[in-house]
Amino acid sequence: MNKTIDLNAEQLAENIAQVRARIALAAERAGRDPAEITLVAVSKTKPVELVEMAYNCGVTDFGENRVQEALAKIARWHPQGLRWHLIGHLQSNKAAKVVEPFACVHSVDSLHLAQTLSRHAQELGKPLTILLQVNVASEASKEGMSPGELPELARQIVALPALRVEGLMTIAPLVSDPEEVRLVFRELRRLRDRLRIDVSASDWAQLSMGMTGDYSVAIEEGATIVRVGRAIFGQRAAPE
Ligand SMILES: *Cc1c(COP(=O)(O)O)cnc(C)c1O
Repeated sequence: MNKTIDLNAEQLAENIAQVRARIALAAERAGRDPAEITLVAVSKTKPVELVEMAYNCGVTDFGENRVQEALAKIARWHPQGLRWHLIGHLQSNKAAKVVEPFACVHSVDSLHLAQTLSRHAQELGKPLTILLQVNVASEASKEGMSPGELPELARQIVALPALRVEGLMTIAPLVSDPEEVRLVFRELRRLRDRLRIDVSASDWAQLSMGMTGDYSVAIEEGATIVRVGRAIFGQRAAPE
């Protein structure tokens, strides 16, 4: 983990303001209210001091992709009103650790993981909000359910007792022109619209899609949660 803080409070505030402005512009182009879009600031590999600085700029939602790293940060700093999102792959054997500290797990990609989370949430008496991760572009390197298996898995997962299934998440392929992934976001929305009809036990309100390179396009295609790291905290030193 890169512990050097290479961003001062002023630059960070400027980055956040710029991201918020772009979110508002994209929402406006799509005829949407920017207030319906949640900005999750992705703080993976970044020190907790930067999380604190961003929180002081009004950011309330933070994303981490590794359980151990996230828990270390949460242990050091967990003010009222701050929500942590787990956005990276989660192994079932770590499921017990995430129910309490995380407000939302975006990366549920199997029935087994969902069952394990539900069991731990039930034991704790605290329902857990989750999203189902879909590998829309069927990339071999990516986690996530295939679009084909999504409806049946969704049906089984919404029936679990201690989970609140609020929507879908996807990670688009890395491309240089975000227009190339517009159809990926459109497809996730279409899959969501189908679920609203076929699996009506949830209203499938959330679409977590869009990162630094493509969040404007994702918002135009219906994102309700964008996960933005580099545009807020700067480049990451180490590959994650
Ligand atoms: C790292 C990461 C992000 C943020 O990526 P940036 O390009 O830094 O905005 C978003 N979502 C997931 C799942 C990630 O792992």
